Amino acid sequence: MTMNRRVLMKMAVLAAGASALPARAQTNSRPGQTVPKSYRRIAVEESFSVPEYFEWRSKYVPTTTIGAPASAFKDIYARLFDLGSGRIAEMDANGIAMQVLSMNAPGVQAMPPADAAVMARLVNDRLAAAIAAHPTRFAGLTTVGPQDPQTAAKEIERGAQKLNMSGVLINSHTNNEFLDDPKFLPIFEALAANDMPLYLHPNGPTAAMEDTLKIPGFTVGWSYGVDAGTHAVRLIAAGIFDRFPTLKLVLGHMGEALPFWISRMDNRFEWEYRMTGKSRPLKRLPSDYIRDNIYVTTSGMNYGPQTRMALDVMGREHVLFAIDYPYEDNREAVAAIDAMPLSDLERSLLCHGNSERVFKLRKT
Ligand code: MN
Repeated sequence: MTMNRRVLMKMAVLAAGASALPARAQTNSRPGQTVPKSYRRIAVEESFSVPEYFEWRSKYVPTTTIGAPASAFKDIYARLFDLGSGRIAEMDANGIAMQVLSMNAPGVQAMPPADAAVMARLVNDRLAAAIAAHPTRFAGLTTVGPQDPQTAAKEIERGAQKLNMSGVLINSHTNNEFLDDPKFLPIFEALAANDMPLYLHPNGPTAAMEDTLKIPGFTVGWSYGVDAGTHAVRLIAAGIFDRFPTLKLVLGHMGEALPFWISRMDNRFEWEYRMTGKSRPLKRLPSDYIRDNIYVTTSGMNYGPQTRMALDVMGREHVLFAIDYPYEDNREAVAAIDAMPLSDLERSLLCHGNSERVFKLRKT
């Protein structure tokens, strides 16, 4: 094979020790732009639940995902069920202006389709009531049961048009099926038609990966991220973003490792198709979709170096503050973000500007 000019240039770049993938061009810095010194903190991956769901779950699911007894989660359950004064008091104590709320994982996705539809409506109605009662403190993401894609699409529409929802959250795979299966297209059509971002939250590993990814002590800290990151890559590979170019996909936990792998994904994606002689099925490179369609949040990742990397790789308009309350601690997450050496503009975009734009939140 003769080496073309592009390959030679790439080799030269790699040999020089530089990344072939440039840092994300920052598009929003205008000379003379006024940057507010104070900023609101909006946390965008914050959980709630309803007792009715746990009543159902206690009949069918003997233990929690990490194998702990339900009793170990007593304090967490109390916080999950509170959509009022207790939750707001904890927000106030830690300087959190607003929570973007979503149902605890795995949502209604383990339920039989008919039960899931009923529970999703109940959960969404209750969330809508909490948002209506506290419109400056709460926003929310619609819960759906992808196991019935048509019903899920209708609930996405109801959430957007009747319940004042700001997006949709799906906990990765549903009964071991990923959203790149064409049967789920009605969900993407509803997201696009209603301009709703999709928060792709982790779930436990699929049955096919369970033996490999059941690693004691690493269930959440590794296996959840592998599953959710893999799911996002599958959506890219299936051409979802070519088909729905304005779709916004939000990933927690600093992007479920995608920002870390981004240059290697481009490099080996091109290489794999060149070596196999097959034509590339995507219009753009993996990094184009990751940096244009995907937004990452800091949920559960109170660590400066990773936040810096995400800002540099994704661009400062694509990183959003999140905590993962009540599984993570509000105080620790706020202290961590406050201690990070960020510019005023980065901090204001990270803490509220980006979430206000992506989820179309009210600004007071
Ligand atoms: Mn979470």
